Amino acid sequence: MPKAAKKPVLSFKYSVNVEVRLPEFEPLDSLKWIDYDRLQKGRHKVAIGFVVGGCCRRLVKAVIRDGMVTGLEVERCKQSPPASSGIATILKEARRLMAQKTAIPKCGIPLLMVCSGKSFGD
Ligand SMILES: [Zn+2]
Repeated sequence: MPKAAKKPVLSFKYSVNVEVRLPEFEPLDSLKWIDYDRLQKGRHKVAIGFVVGGCCRRLVKAVIRDGMVTGLEVERCKQSPPASSGIATILKEARRLMAQKTAIPKCGIPLLMVCSGKSFGD
């Protein structure tokens, strides 16, 4: 039986009604072995888990600067075509509105908080 759809975290009207939902996130078991002290200085990219949904699981890497996660990189789905310019525009607007709504500080979020799942809507 399919899981009930999560409640949208954001909805807005563009040329169509748009609803944004948080994806399921599966943290890597290896997170418990991360050397947090080593990541307190400099820039790093560390695999932290997978987003699940659609046709596949996609690897997520945290972009880290001085122990703070300043971005996430999600592996591209190899089966889906690139977004059309219309969809790309809507995605850009969704990112802009989510950034306003969540008010994530420019310096980032502490890596430990991200790895504990506290910033994934749990
Ligand atoms: Zn896929």
